[in-house]
Amino acid sequence: MQQIFIDKPLEINDIYEFDEPKAHHLMHVLRMAKGTKVRLVHERAYLASIDYIDGKVIAKVEAVDANDNELHCNLILVQAMIKKEKWELVLQKASELGCTMIVPLISKRTIIDDKRFNDKRARYEKILLEAAQQCKRNQVPQLMDPINLKDLNIYGDLKLVAYEAFNQKASKIHELWQHQKNVVIVIGPEGGFEPQEITMLQAKGYNCVSLGKRILRSETASIYALSVIGELSE
Ligand code: SAH
Repeated sequence: MQQIFIDKPLEINDIYEFDEPKAHHLMHVLRMAKGTKVRLVHERAYLASIDYIDGKVIAKVEAVDANDNELHCNLILVQAMIKKEKWELVLQKASELGCTMIVPLISKRTIIDDKRFNDKRARYEKILLEAAQQCKRNQVPQLMDPINLKDLNIYGDLKLVAYEAFNQKASKIHELWQHQKNVVIVIGPEGGFEPQEITMLQAKGYNCVSLGKRILRSETASIYALSVIGELSE
């Protein structure tokens, strides 16, 4: 069943009219037949059926879909900015894996030109939306503007930084897990973190965690850490 994020809450028997671009996509790209069931989402999810009236594409709400496909915690990924393809892969996987917010991080060893971030924002948000639609989430992750590590100031009741250079004594995520409701995970760039950056993050309340004995690429580390947190949180 196709999922479509909409711009307002609905009630049963409401008629939702799609805007022109979405109507065109449904009618001419997906060639959706009259009566096709769709899942409309605006925080809550609604089951509706497609109809064509006076050349417009509408959907009539038939039921509320009680399925809430979100994690049981707010999950914020603070991801050091990495090369284009890997960055876009992380966006897509973070959306699938239940992130509620993604914060692009500028650290000493990030090599990406964050100045052009806003030129690419629409493309990044499209990746997040499409991944959230495909995996039937009830919300789309929010993408923040790039921020310097020293300016990081995010609330969390579990704040983690994945640190590759920590000796094996470092905690594992599950050892710190107590079903916290606001979880923040920081992942470093291809070049890793500098020791003083870790010291700064610890002063901001971040706990160092190990993601295992192998040194993972940044994008692998994100997917791994988000998967562990998702499993613990579901
Ligand atoms: N270039 C560095 C590794 C950077 S890996 C080196 O070769 O040592 C990129 C990021 O992924 C790291 O900053 C860290 O946040 C995360 N990461 C990778 N492997 C990890 C591990 N085994 N434990 C914790 N974090 C890890």
